[in-house]
Amino acid sequence: DHRLRRIASSIRVIPEFPKPGILFQDITTLLLDPEAFRDTIDMFVERYRDKEISVVAGIEARGFIFGPPIALAIGAKFVPMRKPKKLPGEVISEEYSLEYGTDKMEMHVGAVEAGDRALVIDDLIATGGTLAAAMRLLGGFSSTDRVGAEVVECACVIELPELKGRDKLGGRPLFVLVKAV
Ligand code: IMP
Repeated sequence: DHRLRRIASSIRVIPEFPKPGILFQDITTLLLDPEAFRDTIDMFVERYRDKEISVVAGIEARGFIFGPPIALAIGAKFVPMRKPKKLPGEVISEEYSLEYGTDKMEMHVGAVEAGDRALVIDDLIATGGTLAAAMRLLGGFSSTDRVGAEVVECACVIELPELKGRDKLGGRPLFVLVKAV
């Protein structure tokens, strides 16, 4: 698909950010190219429009850029999966490990219900810890888990395949547009 080449080349790589040794994949340059941004959204919408997705769960912060236009186009609700202490209502939360230490993700109680069919969206999958935490909150690993939604698929713009984040998703499918080399 010619669109994928344009999307891939619109992503900027910044070495040594946020710390030495990291090659940061910067999607803000994709957002500067309206055709590449449009194609990105279109490709997700084409994949999910007929899958009866009832909720798009977007991961803070860059899942908030890609998730809402997809949700609007496929007629699903959008639910933000946020960093701790940002959501004003009652929340459920899930801890996950980072390279050093842990972080937490929160979601409003009642935003997703048992029986919802969820698409989880973020800009990038590295180790997979972030998407796995979102799936634990939604109930993606077991329908008796947490809110008991079905995670139909996780989707990202970019995957860092060397980190094998896919293996953390318990066999649930992951769809990506671009693999970083
Ligand atoms: P994981 O939990 O190791 O898979 O890390 C994925 C999370 O970290 C996502 O929310 C990404 O937005 C963020 N992240 C990690 N590396 C990068 C990068 O190179 N560019 C943009 N985001 C990144």
